[in-house]
Amino acid sequence: MIAVIKPGTTDEQMEPLISWLEKQELRVHISKGEYQTVIGLIGDTSKVDLEMIQSLDIVESATRVSEPYKACSRTFHPEDTVIQVGENGPKIGGGHFAIIAGPCSVETPEQISYVAQRVKDGGAHLLRGGAFKPRTSPYDFQGHGQKGIEMLLTAKAATGLPIVTELMDIRNIPLFEDVDVIQIGARNTQNYDLLKEVGKMNKPVLLKRGLAGTLKELLMSAEYIMANGNENVILCERGIRTYESTYTRNTLDLSAVPVLKKLSHLPVIVDPSHATGHSDLVSSMALAAVAAGADGLMIEVHNDPKHAWSDGPQSITPDVFDDIASKIRKIREVIKGC
Ligand code: PEP
Ligand code: MN
Repeated sequence: MIAVIKPGTTDEQMEPLISWLEKQELRVHISKGEYQTVIGLIGDTSKVDLEMIQSLDIVESATRVSEPYKACSRTFHPEDTVIQVGENGPKIGGGHFAIIAGPCSVETPEQISYVAQRVKDGGAHLLRGGAFKPRTSPYDFQGHGQKGIEMLLTAKAATGLPIVTELMDIRNIPLFEDVDVIQIGARNTQNYDLLKEVGKMNKPVLLKRGLAGTLKELLMSAEYIMANGNENVILCERGIRTYESTYTRNTLDLSAVPVLKKLSHLPVIVDPSHATGHSDLVSSMALAAVAAGADGLMIEVHNDPKHAWSDGPQSITPDVFDDIASKIRKIREVIKGC
Protein backbone atom coordinates (compact mmCIF):
# COMPACT_ATOMS: atom_id res chain seq x y z
CA MET A 1 0.00 0.00 0.00
CA ILE A 2 1.14 3.56 -0.63
CA ALA A 3 -0.13 6.84 0.75
CA VAL A 4 0.68 10.01 -1.16
CA ILE A 5 1.03 12.86 1.33
CA LYS A 6 -0.37 16.34 0.62
CA PRO A 7 2.28 18.93 -0.35
CA GLY A 8 3.40 21.12 2.55
CA THR A 9 2.80 18.45 5.21
CA THR A 10 5.46 18.61 7.94
CA ASP A 11 7.32 15.67 9.54
CA GLU A 12 5.48 16.37 12.83
CA GLN A 13 2.13 16.12 11.06
CA MET A 14 3.13 12.75 9.53
CA GLU A 15 4.53 11.35 12.78
CA PRO A 16 1.26 10.02 14.35
CA LEU A 17 0.37 8.16 11.14
CA ILE A 18 3.86 6.66 10.84
CA SER A 19 4.02 5.46 14.43
CA TRP A 20 0.52 3.99 14.16
CA LEU A 21 1.51 2.10 10.99
CA GLU A 22 4.69 0.82 12.64
CA LYS A 23 2.59 -0.50 15.54
CA GLN A 24 0.68 -2.58 12.96
CA GLU A 25 4.02 -4.38 12.37
CA LEU A 26 4.45 -2.86 8.93
CA ARG A 27 7.74 -1.64 7.52
CA VAL A 28 7.28 2.00 6.63
CA HIS A 29 9.26 3.35 3.70
CA ILE A 30 9.24 7.11 3.27
CA SER A 31 10.23 8.59 -0.08
CA LYS A 32 10.61 12.36 -0.02
CA GLY A 33 10.82 13.73 -3.53
CA GLU A 34 11.08 17.28 -4.73
CA TYR A 35 7.35 17.47 -5.37
CA GLN A 36 5.85 14.58 -3.46
CA THR A 37 6.22 12.50 -0.31
CA VAL A 38 5.11 8.90 -0.55
CA ILE A 39 4.70 6.54 2.40
CA GLY A 40 5.07 2.93 1.29
CA LEU A 41 3.99 0.02 3.48
CA ILE A 42 5.64 -3.38 3.35
CA GLY A 43 4.15 -6.39 5.11
CA ASP A 44 0.63 -7.69 5.63
CA THR A 45 -1.43 -4.62 4.79
CA SER A 46 -4.70 -6.57 4.46
CA LYS A 47 -5.87 -5.35 7.91
CA VAL A 48 -5.14 -1.68 7.13
CA ASP A 49 -8.36 0.16 6.32
CA LEU A 50 -7.68 1.92 3.01
CA GLU A 51 -10.65 4.26 3.37
CA MET A 52 -9.56 5.32 6.84
CA ILE A 53 -6.08 6.24 5.51
CA GLN A 54 -7.65 8.06 2.54
CA SER A 55 -9.81 10.12 4.87
CA LEU A 56 -6.88 11.57 6.84
CA ASP A 57 -6.24 15.30 6.42
CA ILE A 58 -2.61 14.88 5.39
CA VAL A 59 -3.28 12.15 2.80
CA GLU A 60 -3.88 13.01 -0.85
CA SER A 61 -4.51 9.44 -2.00
CA ALA A 62 -3.93 5.87 -0.86
CA THR A 63 -3.77 2.78 -3.06
CA ARG A 64 -2.92 -0.88 -2.72
CA VAL A 65 0.15 -1.96 -4.68
CA SER A 66 -0.44 -5.13 -6.61
CA GLU A 67 3.17 -5.81 -7.71
CA PRO A 68 5.06 -8.34 -5.58
CA TYR A 69 8.10 -6.04 -5.46
CA LYS A 70 7.70 -2.99 -3.25
CA ALA A 71 10.90 -1.20 -2.22
CA CYS A 72 12.30 -1.25 -5.77
CA SER A 73 8.98 -0.24 -7.32
CA ARG A 74 8.57 3.20 -8.83
CA THR A 75 5.17 3.41 -7.16
CA PHE A 76 6.95 3.43 -3.78
CA HIS A 77 9.63 5.87 -4.87
CA PRO A 78 8.53 7.97 -7.86
CA GLU A 79 11.87 9.73 -8.40
CA ASP A 80 14.98 8.08 -9.86
CA THR A 81 17.42 6.75 -7.31
CA VAL A 82 20.88 8.26 -7.61
CA ILE A 83 23.61 5.95 -6.35
CA GLN A 84 26.68 7.59 -4.91
CA VAL A 85 29.78 5.39 -5.14
CA GLY A 86 32.04 6.02 -2.12
CA GLU A 87 32.09 9.44 -0.52
CA ASN A 88 33.29 11.46 -3.48
CA GLY A 89 33.00 8.93 -6.27
CA PRO A 90 30.81 8.89 -9.35
CA LYS A 91 27.01 8.94 -9.25
CA ILE A 92 24.80 6.56 -11.20
CA GLY A 93 21.14 7.19 -12.08
CA GLY A 94 18.85 10.20 -12.25
CA GLY A 95 20.77 11.68 -15.19
CA HIS A 96 24.22 10.60 -13.98
CA PHE A 97 25.84 8.20 -16.45
CA ALA A 98 28.71 5.87 -15.49
CA ILE A 99 31.02 3.73 -17.58
CA ILE A 100 32.49 0.69 -15.85
CA ALA A 101 35.37 -0.84 -17.80
CA GLY A 102 38.16 -3.33 -17.33
CA PRO A 103 39.12 -6.92 -17.98
CA CYS A 104 36.93 -9.94 -17.36
CA SER A 105 39.55 -11.34 -14.95
CA VAL A 106 42.32 -9.68 -13.01
CA GLU A 107 45.35 -11.53 -14.38
CA THR A 108 48.60 -9.82 -13.35
CA PRO A 109 49.47 -6.57 -11.53
CA GLU A 110 50.85 -5.17 -14.81
CA GLN A 111 47.73 -6.11 -16.79
CA ILE A 112 45.20 -4.58 -14.37
CA SER A 113 47.28 -1.45 -13.78
CA TYR A 114 47.76 -0.87 -17.50
CA VAL A 115 44.09 -1.42 -18.38
CA ALA A 116 42.98 0.72 -15.41
CA GLN A 117 45.07 3.68 -16.58
CA ARG A 118 43.95 3.28 -20.19
CA VAL A 119 40.23 3.09 -19.42
CA LYS A 120 40.56 6.03 -17.03
CA ASP A 121 42.22 8.06 -19.78
CA GLY A 122 39.44 6.99 -22.14
CA GLY A 123 36.70 8.25 -19.81
CA ALA A 124 35.71 5.30 -17.57
CA HIS A 125 34.28 6.19 -14.16
CA LEU A 126 34.83 2.81 -12.48
CA LEU A 127 37.23 -0.11 -12.95
CA ARG A 128 35.95 -3.67 -13.20
CA GLY A 129 37.88 -6.93 -12.91
CA GLY A 130 36.99 -10.40 -11.68
CA ALA A 131 38.93 -11.81 -8.72
CA PHE A 132 36.47 -14.63 -8.05
CA LYS A 133 35.34 -16.02 -11.41
CA PRO A 134 32.21 -18.11 -12.00
CA ARG A 135 33.47 -20.34 -14.82
CA THR A 136 31.43 -22.96 -16.66
CA SER A 137 34.35 -25.40 -16.47
CA PRO A 138 36.03 -26.16 -13.15
CA TYR A 139 39.29 -26.57 -15.09
CA ASP A 140 39.30 -22.98 -16.34
CA PHE A 141 41.00 -20.10 -14.50
CA GLN A 142 38.93 -19.45 -11.37
CA GLY A 143 40.40 -16.03 -10.54
CA HIS A 144 43.17 -15.00 -8.13
CA GLY A 145 40.71 -14.50 -5.25
CA GLN A 146 42.12 -12.31 -2.47
CA LYS A 147 45.28 -11.55 -4.49
CA GLY A 148 43.08 -10.34 -7.35
CA ILE A 149 41.30 -7.91 -5.01
CA GLU A 150 44.69 -6.65 -3.81
CA MET A 151 45.74 -6.03 -7.44
CA LEU A 152 42.50 -4.13 -8.04
CA LEU A 153 43.15 -2.00 -4.95
CA THR A 154 46.64 -1.17 -6.20
CA ALA A 155 45.16 -0.09 -9.55
CA LYS A 156 42.54 1.95 -7.68
CA ALA A 157 45.23 3.69 -5.64
CA ALA A 158 47.16 4.56 -8.80
CA THR A 159 44.23 5.80 -10.88
CA GLY A 160 41.62 6.89 -8.34
CA LEU A 161 39.02 4.71 -10.09
CA PRO A 162 36.59 2.99 -7.70
CA ILE A 163 36.42 -0.78 -8.22
CA VAL A 164 33.65 -3.22 -9.05
CA THR A 165 34.20 -6.95 -8.54
CA GLU A 166 32.07 -10.05 -8.17
CA LEU A 167 31.19 -11.71 -4.87
CA MET A 168 30.15 -15.36 -5.21
CA ASP A 169 30.30 -16.66 -1.65
CA ILE A 170 29.25 -15.07 1.63
CA ARG A 171 32.40 -16.51 3.27
CA ASN A 172 34.45 -14.02 1.24
CA ILE A 173 32.58 -10.89 2.38
CA PRO A 174 35.42 -9.78 4.73
CA LEU A 175 37.74 -9.55 1.70
CA PHE A 176 35.40 -7.00 0.07
CA GLU A 177 35.78 -4.30 2.71
CA ASP A 178 37.61 -1.87 0.38
CA VAL A 179 35.69 -2.83 -2.76
CA ASP A 180 33.43 0.04 -3.87
CA VAL A 181 30.68 -1.84 -5.72
CA ILE A 182 29.79 -5.50 -5.19
CA GLN A 183 28.82 -7.36 -8.36
CA ILE A 184 26.33 -10.20 -8.15
CA GLY A 185 26.75 -12.22 -11.32
CA ALA A 186 24.12 -13.72 -13.58
CA ARG A 187 24.66 -17.18 -12.11
CA ASN A 188 23.91 -15.91 -8.61
CA THR A 189 21.00 -13.59 -9.28
CA GLN A 190 18.70 -15.98 -7.46
CA ASN A 191 21.11 -17.05 -4.73
CA TYR A 192 18.82 -15.66 -2.07
CA ASP A 193 21.15 -16.23 0.88
CA LEU A 194 23.85 -14.25 -0.92
CA LEU A 195 21.35 -11.49 -1.75
CA LYS A 196 20.23 -11.28 1.89
CA GLU A 197 23.83 -10.86 3.04
CA VAL A 198 24.69 -8.12 0.53
CA GLY A 199 21.43 -6.53 1.66
CA LYS A 200 23.07 -6.07 5.06
CA MET A 201 26.14 -4.37 3.57
CA ASN A 202 26.33 -0.64 3.09
CA LYS A 203 27.83 -0.41 -0.37
CA PRO A 204 26.25 -0.37 -3.82
CA VAL A 205 25.37 -3.70 -5.40
CA LEU A 206 25.48 -4.23 -9.16
CA LEU A 207 22.89 -6.94 -9.74
CA LYS A 208 23.01 -8.74 -13.07
CA ARG A 209 19.99 -10.28 -14.75
CA GLY A 210 19.96 -14.09 -14.52
CA LEU A 211 20.97 -16.20 -17.52
CA ALA A 212 17.32 -16.89 -18.32
CA GLY A 213 15.76 -14.54 -15.82
CA THR A 214 12.58 -12.60 -16.37
CA LEU A 215 12.45 -8.91 -15.49
CA LYS A 216 10.09 -9.68 -12.63
CA GLU A 217 12.60 -12.18 -11.25
CA LEU A 218 15.35 -9.56 -11.49
CA LEU A 219 13.21 -7.06 -9.59
CA MET A 220 12.38 -9.67 -6.95
CA SER A 221 16.11 -10.29 -6.50
CA ALA A 222 16.66 -6.54 -6.07
CA GLU A 223 13.83 -6.64 -3.54
CA TYR A 224 15.71 -9.27 -1.49
CA ILE A 225 18.68 -6.89 -1.21
CA MET A 226 16.52 -3.87 -0.41
CA ALA A 227 14.29 -5.72 2.06
CA ASN A 228 17.45 -6.39 4.08
CA GLY A 229 18.26 -2.70 4.28
CA ASN A 230 20.55 -1.94 1.34
CA GLU A 231 18.75 0.38 -1.07
CA ASN A 232 21.77 0.96 -3.34
CA VAL A 233 21.07 -1.49 -6.12
CA ILE A 234 22.07 -1.05 -9.77
CA LEU A 235 20.24 -3.32 -12.21
CA CYS A 236 22.26 -4.73 -15.12
CA GLU A 237 20.94 -6.17 -18.38
CA ARG A 238 23.64 -8.53 -19.69
CA GLY A 239 21.75 -10.57 -22.29
CA ILE A 240 19.61 -13.64 -21.83
CA ARG A 241 19.69 -17.18 -23.17
CA THR A 242 17.55 -17.58 -26.31
CA TYR A 243 17.56 -20.00 -29.23
CA GLU A 244 20.31 -17.94 -30.91
CA SER A 245 23.77 -18.94 -29.77
CA THR A 246 25.70 -19.28 -33.02
CA TYR A 247 26.38 -15.65 -33.81
CA THR A 248 25.77 -14.10 -30.40
CA ARG A 249 26.59 -15.56 -26.97
CA ASN A 250 23.35 -14.22 -25.49
CA THR A 251 20.54 -12.01 -26.78
CA LEU A 252 20.69 -8.42 -25.58
CA ASP A 253 17.20 -7.49 -24.39
CA LEU A 254 17.39 -3.74 -24.82
CA SER A 255 13.70 -3.34 -24.09
CA ALA A 256 14.64 -4.29 -20.52
CA VAL A 257 16.02 -0.75 -20.11
CA PRO A 258 12.76 1.21 -20.60
CA VAL A 259 10.69 -1.51 -18.94
CA LEU A 260 12.86 -1.61 -15.80
CA LYS A 261 12.99 2.16 -15.66
CA LYS A 262 9.21 2.31 -15.88
CA LEU A 263 8.71 -0.28 -13.14
CA SER A 264 11.55 0.73 -10.85
CA HIS A 265 13.40 3.81 -9.64
CA LEU A 266 16.73 1.96 -9.58
CA PRO A 267 19.45 2.80 -12.13
CA VAL A 268 19.72 0.42 -15.08
CA ILE A 269 23.00 -0.29 -16.86
CA VAL A 270 23.84 -2.53 -19.83
CA ASP A 271 26.73 -4.96 -20.31
CA PRO A 272 27.14 -5.32 -24.10
CA SER A 273 30.19 -7.61 -23.68
CA HIS A 274 28.47 -10.61 -22.06
CA ALA A 275 25.30 -9.80 -24.01
CA THR A 276 26.95 -10.36 -27.38
CA GLY A 277 30.09 -12.39 -26.71
CA HIS A 278 31.87 -10.80 -29.69
CA SER A 279 34.13 -7.78 -29.52
CA ASP A 280 32.99 -6.46 -32.92
CA LEU A 281 29.39 -6.19 -31.65
CA VAL A 282 30.19 -4.31 -28.45
CA SER A 283 30.34 -0.82 -29.93
CA SER A 284 26.97 -0.85 -31.70
CA MET A 285 25.17 -2.41 -28.72
CA ALA A 286 26.83 -0.02 -26.26
CA LEU A 287 25.65 2.96 -28.29
CA ALA A 288 22.16 1.48 -28.68
CA ALA A 289 21.97 1.02 -24.90
CA VAL A 290 22.83 4.68 -24.36
CA ALA A 291 20.16 5.70 -26.86
CA ALA A 292 17.67 3.42 -25.06
CA GLY A 293 18.18 5.42 -21.87
CA ALA A 294 20.61 3.26 -19.88
CA ASP A 295 22.24 4.93 -16.87
CA GLY A 296 25.59 3.34 -17.60
CA LEU A 297 27.57 0.60 -19.29
CA MET A 298 29.83 -2.21 -18.20
CA ILE A 299 32.39 -3.09 -20.88
CA GLU A 300 35.16 -5.69 -20.87
CA VAL A 301 38.49 -4.19 -21.97
CA HIS A 302 41.75 -6.15 -22.27
CA ASN A 303 45.27 -5.13 -23.26
CA ASP A 304 45.68 -8.31 -25.32
CA PRO A 305 42.25 -9.92 -25.94
CA LYS A 306 43.66 -12.87 -27.92
CA HIS A 307 45.58 -14.01 -24.85
CA ALA A 308 43.00 -13.11 -22.19
CA TRP A 309 42.55 -15.72 -19.44
CA SER A 310 38.76 -15.39 -19.76
CA ASP A 311 36.25 -13.86 -22.19
CA GLY A 312 38.88 -12.79 -24.74
CA PRO A 313 36.52 -13.02 -27.77
CA GLN A 314 34.22 -10.36 -26.32
CA SER A 315 36.95 -8.10 -24.93
CA ILE A 316 37.82 -4.89 -26.74
CA THR A 317 41.20 -3.18 -26.72
CA PRO A 318 41.83 0.14 -24.95
CA ASP A 319 42.00 1.88 -28.36
CA VAL A 320 38.53 0.62 -29.28
CA PHE A 321 37.33 1.64 -25.81
CA ASP A 322 38.56 5.20 -26.43
CA ASP A 323 36.54 5.30 -29.64
CA ILE A 324 33.35 3.91 -28.02
CA ALA A 325 33.64 6.28 -25.04
CA SER A 326 33.88 9.31 -27.30
CA LYS A 327 30.85 8.14 -29.32
CA ILE A 328 28.93 7.58 -26.07
CA ARG A 329 29.56 11.20 -25.10
CA LYS A 330 28.17 12.33 -28.48
CA ILE A 331 25.03 10.20 -28.16
CA ARG A 332 24.50 11.48 -24.61
CA GLU A 333 24.59 15.04 -25.93
CA VAL A 334 22.00 14.20 -28.60
CA ILE A 335 19.57 12.49 -26.24
CA LYS A 336 19.88 15.27 -23.65
CA GLY A 337 18.34 17.57 -26.24
CA CYS A 338 15.45 15.16 -27.07
C1 PEP B 1 31.46 -10.93 -15.58
O1 PEP B 1 31.04 -9.78 -15.45
O2 PEP B 1 32.65 -11.20 -15.82
C2 PEP B 1 30.49 -12.05 -15.54
C3 PEP B 1 30.86 -13.27 -15.19
O3 PEP B 1 29.27 -11.66 -15.95
P1 PEP B 1 27.86 -12.46 -15.94
O4 PEP B 1 27.59 -12.79 -14.51
O5 PEP B 1 26.92 -11.48 -16.53
O6 PEP B 1 28.04 -13.69 -16.79
MN1 MN C 1 33.48 -11.89 -18.35
